[in-house]
Order: sequence, then C-alpha cells, then structure tokens
Amino acid sequence: MIAANTLNFDLHNHTAASDGTLSALELVTLAHKNSCDGFALTDHDTLLNVGAAHAAALQCGLNFIAGVEISVSWRAEGDIDSASKTIHIVGLNIDPTDKTLIAGLESVRGGRLVRGREIARLLALADIPDIFDEALALAENKEMLGRPHFARALVARGIVKDIHHAFRRYLTEGNPGYLPHKWASLADAVKWIVSAGGIAVIAHPGRYRLGHVGLNSLFIEFKSVGGQSIEVVTGSHSPSEYAPFARLCKEFDFYASRGADFHGYADTPTEPGKLPRLSEIDRDLRPVWSHFQ
Ligand code: AMP
Ligand code: MN
Ligand code: MN
Ligand code: MN
Repeated sequence: MIAANTLNFDLHNHTAASDGTLSALELVTLAHKNSCDGFALTDHDTLLNVGAAHAAALQCGLNFIAGVEISVSWRAEGDIDSASKTIHIVGLNIDPTDKTLIAGLESVRGGRLVRGREIARLLALADIPDIFDEALALAENKEMLGRPHFARALVARGIVKDIHHAFRRYLTEGNPGYLPHKWASLADAVKWIVSAGGIAVIAHPGRYRLGHVGLNSLFIEFKSVGGQSIEVVTGSHSPSEYAPFARLCKEFDFYASRGADFHGYADTPTEPGKLPRLSEIDRDLRPVWSHFQ
C-alpha cells in the first residue's frame, strides 16, 4: 500500500471567481495534467466555481475536493495593544450547499466593493488617479474585487513591473493604498466550515509574521474553536519554512496540508501538483486528506 503522505494531493488553488486568472476548466485540466491524486479548489470567500470545477474533474477522472479560503481578522485574546491581523482559513471537503456557510461567505464578501472604492481613493492621493474602473474590469466576479486586481491594474498602467512590486510599494500595510478591513472572526469561519461538514486548515501560517508567541496563541485558539490542520507545504511558504512548520504541526497534533496557492501563471511560480510531497519533508506528518482519500 502507498503511504498516504507520499500522494500528490494539492489542496489550495484559485480561479478567476476570486483572485486567480484561470477558469475552473483550465485549472482542473492543469491539475490533471500534473498528475494530482486529489485536488481542491479554494477560492477566497466564494463557492461560485465549485460546481464547474467539480464537473470538469468528473470529466477527466480527477479526485475533487470542494473547498474555500475564508478571510479572517484575528487578534490574540487579551491583546488589546496591537491591531488585528488578516489570517486565511481554508475549509476542505465542505458541502457547497450548506446554508450556514453560504450566508457566512456572503457576509464576508459584502464590504469588498466599498473597500475597493476606498483603495482607489487612497491611490489617487498618491498620484494614481481613477484606477477603480481598471481594477474592477480585471475582476471577473465583481463582488470579489480585491488587492490583486488593483495590483494587476498598476502593472497594466506601467506604474510597477510586476504584482509583487505593486503589493510592496502600494498595497501592503504602511503603504499608500492599504487600509485595514474587518473580515470574519476566527471562531465564525471555523464554525461555518464545520457546519458544512468540512475540515478547517490554517493557510500559510508562515505568512503572518506572528512570531513564536503569536503563532502559539493562534494555534491554541484555532484548536479550541474546532480547527484541525495547518498548511506545511505551500507555494506561500519558502522551502526553508517547510521543516519548522512540519515540527509545529506535529507538536500541536494537527493534520498537515499541502497546496500550491496557485493564482495563475504570471502570479504563482509553482503549478498545482508540483511542490514537494509531505513525505519528503517529514515522514511522520499525518496528511489532512486521510479524511477524504
Ligand atoms: P485581499 O483579500 O483583497 O486583501 O487580497 C489578498 C490576496 O492578495 C492574497 O490572497 C494573495 O493572493 C494576494 N497577496 C497578498 N499579499 C501579497 C504580496 N505581498 N504579493 C503578491 N500577492 C499578494
Ligand atoms: Mn489570493
Ligand atoms: Mn491566502
Ligand atoms: Mn490562497
């Protein structure tokens, strides 16, 4: 029997229904071409393309897992001094018809267009006028307008050479086009996922710059509200982060997840199904897909 953690499951990917650039059919075709043993679509805050991706996966015989990546605002309990951080929680193997999840995601999406107008106003103050319509035109699903669409609009105008510079110079904290936003609470995001029969996973825990103490409180709180897994191998971690997060994953008795966080050829260096296997990082990791293999 093949050990489960050697399998090529890729459980974090986006389409143009959120901030990716591929259609559901193009993305599923790519995952199939790359010999994925299992594949999850995890668009931000929307289930719009889950049906189309599932249908495409059935056509080519790819094992499909319905998923979502929920935007969360989180601050350690009792920490009243610091601002809240944006954390992403992936839900895997969810029922896309679950009413609680659908209503929750709708509430998270709600503020995005107003926020987009505000981002455009801030950029205008930094001598980049009238960019709202250009960003909106790049968002296939208008209610999912997000910073990546502004980043692509800044590239298209020739203001920066790529989206990473757009984020670094304009769209991240401390820069002219950034404004804080209130997303879902951690407890609600996990509750919606569990309500839909899914498993909650902390996406790319290395990305939040929480430090040792912050990460510990996040993991403890996540577990106390029903979270079960963290991403270890992800396109949003550097390879040097795989081993430390494998260690933390085992220490907290979490299941380990793996996914490219693929947004499209121009945005993400690694295609779905191409990252190292969990077994190459640590043979003792328990893969989250043991729940739905
Ligand atoms: P939003 O939900 O509108 O705040 O956009 C968040 C998305 O922006 C993430 O899911 C990533 O796809 C992308 N993103 C965030 N930070 C960066 C960065 N530094 N470089 C490139 N993309 C980023
Ligand atoms: Mn994204
Ligand atoms: Mn994310
Ligand atoms: Mn993602």
